[in-house]
Amino acid sequence: MKREQLYVGGRWIANGLEYLDVTNPANGEQIGHVPMATRAVVQDAIHAAYAAFPSWSALPARARADLLKGVAARMREYSDELARLMTLEQGKPLAEAKGEINISADYFEWNAEEAKRVYGETIPAATANKRLLALRQPVGVCAAITPWNFPSSMIARKIAPALAAGCTVIVKPASATPFSALAIAHIFDELGAAPGVLNILVGPSALVAEEFIASPEVRKISFTGSTEIGQSLMQQAARDLKRISLELGGHAPFLVFDDADIDQAVAGVIASKFRNAGQTCICTNRLYVQRGIYAAFADKLAQRVAQLRVGNGLDASTDIGPMIDAQALSKVERHVTDAVERGGRVLVGGTRAHSGNHAGNFYQPTLVADAPPDALVAHEETFGPLLPLWAFETEDEAIALANSTPYGLAAYLYARDYARIIRVYEGLQFGVIGVNDAVPTVAQAPFGGMKHSGFGREGGHQGMDEYLDWKFVSIGL
Ligand code: NAP
Repeated sequence: MKREQLYVGGRWIANGLEYLDVTNPANGEQIGHVPMATRAVVQDAIHAAYAAFPSWSALPARARADLLKGVAARMREYSDELARLMTLEQGKPLAEAKGEINISADYFEWNAEEAKRVYGETIPAATANKRLLALRQPVGVCAAITPWNFPSSMIARKIAPALAAGCTVIVKPASATPFSALAIAHIFDELGAAPGVLNILVGPSALVAEEFIASPEVRKISFTGSTEIGQSLMQQAARDLKRISLELGGHAPFLVFDDADIDQAVAGVIASKFRNAGQTCICTNRLYVQRGIYAAFADKLAQRVAQLRVGNGLDASTDIGPMIDAQALSKVERHVTDAVERGGRVLVGGTRAHSGNHAGNFYQPTLVADAPPDALVAHEETFGPLLPLWAFETEDEAIALANSTPYGLAAYLYARDYARIIRVYEGLQFGVIGVNDAVPTVAQAPFGGMKHSGFGREGGHQGMDEYLDWKFVSIGL
């Protein structure tokens, strides 16, 4: 399953390319190496995808669906091996890695079914001698750039709808986690996918992106990653007016009202904040609790956070694995130090952690109270296991605090009064809202951001819209 080659035009290639080491973030050990694509390799991949497009898009939807269903079935069959590979390169606990593989399989299966429902429209004409049709057609060759935090599902939720719609694809995964991506190529290869339909290459990110943008054969870019890189790609893509979808950073608020079920809300905070060591784009980044329950809630949460076990993701008792690298670790440290220097109080954690004898990139799950509004943690995405919390008085104040960010990806609210729930979710400027639900991502629903969290949706029938164009046909009789 661990392929140390690139998958281009239906061939596995490595000859003559320089290699990049891939390391385990839990202990720094090298787990393998991958070749880095040159400009020529990226161009080969684009040409292969372009050459494969006419026949792939002309297949009946059922035939494309059959391949994608096969991929879903193999992912489930190989889930233990795929999960282990992911934990080795990314660090997340094995159970989370297995959950991610299952979600990836869901994306392939759900979009396989959706491929059969790419309906057009007939439109009533204004005169008797015309017939009007609106058809949906795949946009063409799509290029996807994906991050390391979900090394499988971030790819699945782009390529499943793209391929289902009839597009062909080139994927450039994050350099830190290439093996989970290449394992997907391995499955396509095993199933006999036509050459060029899916291409996966690792390479110097700016160079690869330049080639994607420069090629008139690429008609769509789909990016998941940081807001800064997303903005830069959008500027570049404007030169050739390429379609672009951007799934970018977040700064999720979590609101707990007086009438919430406290135990359910504490469990929700733990799941939403500390999954993947706090390295998800929809991780809670700011916790606001209504004054009446603030003290009791903070106590319960602190007790629960103190019980979380940090360690190697391969160890079954681990709740929180390592940060992806030293830079990510030092960002968490910087946010904690800054909050404390400005008057914040550490309730739990606040230091690096170890796993056995390994220093690794571990940080203790950390709660900080009373950080002032100008603290870094109050307005920057931490992307780590650090949670600041504050008290609020009123519903209006909670909504205003939640919305006081340029980001708009996910927000959470815990309450029981249904009228309050409706007022609050209507007031929140975020693309994904969890109401008494800390894990809102599913294959059948649209996921995506507002404001600086980007635009475009992944999942649901809306996810396939990103890979389809409308074509209007006016027929004179
Ligand atoms: P990143 O640095 O932006 O990297 C993401 C991808 O972009 C990687 O494949 C990276 O390649 C590539 N890249 C880096 N520099 C590039 C450049 N100059 N041109 C083109 N591509 C470039 O982000 P990250 O640190 O990996 O991921 C964390 C961010 O992603 C967070 O902000 C998180 O919130 C966001 N995210 C958003 C969602 C969502 O659905 N909205 C989901 C997950 C993550 P290399 O690895 O080779 O450098």
